[in-house]
Amino acid sequence: MDAGLDRDTLDLVLETIRDFAAAELGETYLLELDTADEFPEKIVRRMLAEIGVSLLFVPEQYGGMGAGTMDVYRVCELLARIDVGVATGVFATFLGSDPIVFGATDEQKERWMTRIAEEGLLMAYGATEPEAGSDLGALKTTAVPQYDGDDLVSYRINGNKQWISNGGYADLYTILANAPGGPTWFVVDRDVDGFEKGKPEDKHGIRASNTAALSLQDVEVPADRLVGTGEGQGLVQAQAVFGYTRLMVAAFGLGAGWEALDRAIPYSTERIQAGGPLSEKQGYTHKLIVPHAVRLESSRAYLEETAERLDAGEELLNTEGAIAKYLATEAGNAAADAAIQALGGYGYTKEYMVEKIKRDVRITTIYEGTSEIMEMTIARDRWQEHLKTRGAYYSDLAAALDGLEASHPETGATTAALAARALAVVLETCRLNRLTRNQDVLFRLGELIALAECAGALSRRAAKAAEGALSDKADKRFTPAGLAAVARVFAREAAMRVALDGSRLVAGSAEPPVNPAELFAAIGLDAITSAQNGAIADADLVADHLYGRA
Ligand SMILES: Cc1cc2nc3c(=O)[nH]c(=O)nc-3n(C[C@H](O)[C@H](O)[C@H](O)COP(=O)(O)OP(=O)(O)OC[C@H]3O[C@@H](n4cnc5c(N)ncnc54)[C@H](O)[C@@H]3O)c2cc1C
Repeated sequence: MDAGLDRDTLDLVLETIRDFAAAELGETYLLELDTADEFPEKIVRRMLAEIGVSLLFVPEQYGGMGAGTMDVYRVCELLARIDVGVATGVFATFLGSDPIVFGATDEQKERWMTRIAEEGLLMAYGATEPEAGSDLGALKTTAVPQYDGDDLVSYRINGNKQWISNGGYADLYTILANAPGGPTWFVVDRDVDGFEKGKPEDKHGIRASNTAALSLQDVEVPADRLVGTGEGQGLVQAQAVFGYTRLMVAAFGLGAGWEALDRAIPYSTERIQAGGPLSEKQGYTHKLIVPHAVRLESSRAYLEETAERLDAGEELLNTEGAIAKYLATEAGNAAADAAIQALGGYGYTKEYMVEKIKRDVRITTIYEGTSEIMEMTIARDRWQEHLKTRGAYYSDLAAALDGLEASHPETGATTAALAARALAVVLETCRLNRLTRNQDVLFRLGELIALAECAGALSRRAAKAAEGALSDKADKRFTPAGLAAVARVFAREAAMRVALDGSRLVAGSAEPPVNPAELFAAIGLDAITSAQNGAIADADLVADHLYGRA
């Protein structure tokens, strides 16, 4: 992935999408699509081809724009603000081309990427099967090599795919199948014999996206449709893009969550109850608005930091992609739910859009890896780091954050350090008592790890904002002072969650039971409780920033 677009080009792309959506995807139309369960094929195709969204992910040498990860995140966030269903139609094309971008030979890239750029092809990514979802290794679709004498001429593919976005409409499909050498990607045209597409699924949300099952019966594909140089690279190729693709879905969570809050915020300034606007009532803002804005912005900090690292040339970052996706999509989902509550009875009706946003954003914690699979990925990877570094992984992070406190005391870095230090103690206590034998402990650790790391990323982001050093592509909704308040609120939440949930995990599974006083002392519960001082004043500050009162 190269460093991508310059700032002006990115702004132009975002503006073009905004203008297109304003003209073609008004609220009434979006609600009609939702009710009718209809995929706006022409509009998605125009977005890809006419306004050139396809060009973003095609490298420059094949006629595309070669956008970077920061660019793609900003575009995905905007698309999700418009409609997560439409965004999914676009995303499925990104995803469908990924095995080619990251796994194909130069000749194959030349052939397919040039076509994607020139024709704006609609693509689909066919990995999931009826019995192989989270565990893709269980896939049953087969690809049997066909020979003419000694020459390999084609593969015969048989099997079924499930829940494929754009499945009923795509021009080109990437299909994962088991060849004799292992799971392998194949590029399959839409009209080949034996390739059937199921009827659209009747879904809870993203009803403007098409989701269909695929059936492949003796589908013959030429041998040069195998992506890459040989069989058995499919899962590795799929893994190679997770860092990147999970950031895209993270951006969907972020966009949809903010879209919902940005409907609740103005609503609450006008809705008068008990003699004043809801926006001036702490019991309302500090429950339904502020914590969600804070969690969304914390996940943005992690997302942007990871995107910048990818754009700087670091590879994989699958765990970081998992952390960003997990936090942003859970935050987006919770924010949309809170937005319904924030609009009261009006929120529960279709007209105010938040009800649809809530149903739409729900998919983001499921596709491209469920939240539970994210927890497992995060916990397994960081558990290894904890073991490899003999427990230093998070105490080193804590020390770095204490260092940040010296130059930027306003960013909550010491509290984020308390979270990291508490996490190190929880992990070590789990190791000594062999508690990760319990899957529940392992998965919950995944959540605590994500929270502690994210608190660090947000403090770093707030410090950069204070120095005027944020990337010129970064979102700048909050002023540096506002972002610092957001960082302090989140650091307190993260530290308390790590301390209390970590204690609960250890106490709940250690045998013989741990001594609670010793555990609390080791975790630093006193210091974490003291750090809560000022929580309400900071939540007031964040509310003031959100409501333009700061
Ligand atoms: C609208 C939509 C669009 C989609 N688009 C695409 C697409 O374009 N291409 C594509 O290939 N796929 C697509 N998917 C599939 C999606 O990625 C899968 O649904 C997802 O990965 C989960 O797989 P599953 O549905 O089989 O659930 P399962 O894997 O059966 O999971 C069910 C539940 O069990 C949990 N679970 C799973 N494994 C474990 C474990 N080891 N330990 C503990 N808990 C576990 C999960 O977190 C989940 O809560 C789409 C799905 C939907 C609904």
